[in-house]
Amino acid sequence: MGVRETRRIIGDYQLTEDDIRTSRRFDDAVLRGCFYVDVHPSDRAGLHDYDAWTPEPYDIPFRTLLPRGWDDLVVAGRCHSATRRAAGSSRVTATAMGMGQAAGTAAALAVRAGVGVRELAVDDIRSTLVSQGALLD
Ligand SMILES: Cc1cc2nc3c(=O)[nH]c(=O)nc-3n(C[C@H](O)[C@H](O)[C@H](O)COP(=O)(O)OP(=O)(O)OC[C@H]3O[C@@H](n4cnc5c(N)ncnc54)[C@H](O)[C@@H]3O)c2cc1C
Repeated sequence: MGVRETRRIIGDYQLTEDDIRTSRRFDDAVLRGCFYVDVHPSDRAGLHDYDAWTPEPYDIPFRTLLPRGWDDLVVAGRCHSATRRAAGSSRVTATAMGMGQAAGTAAALAVRAGVGVRELAVDDIRSTLVSQGALLD
């Protein structure tokens, strides 16, 4: 059985539908999303309970991977910090893979430097991702 939506963290930042609609830029963007906002009903079978629309590519901040109040924990995928409608776009497979790449890269950099992930310079995470081929612009 496949389940589209489960628990999401409350992170240092919560991505919103407005962020996606306006393609808001973030200094700590670690990947970009672009899937249409695909929200399904939670109380009945069927497709969209709200007009699906397709955004321009938008930033996903590193802070949406960091659970508020927790150190040394980074999440990736549909549990990241986003409103239900924002997650209607960001929860999908390719975007979840990009979050996994960002989370794993940050974790590796933190271990190598002997610091917590919040102590990393976000530009170091971003430049490492770009050197791996990530498209952040
Ligand atoms: C019916 C349906 C249709 C979809 N259609 C599309 C589509 O067309 N395009 C698209 O891009 N996305 C689609 N999605 C969404 C997409 O599949 C998911 O949002 C995406 O896979 C989420 O990735 P994730 O890594 O967050 O979670 P998952 O892919 O669910 O990965 C989590 C993994 O963790 C494992 N796990 C759980 N608990 C434990 C544990 N305790 N120990 C070890 N492992 C554990 C699970 O077995 C699983 O492999 C669809 C989803 C559904 C349900």
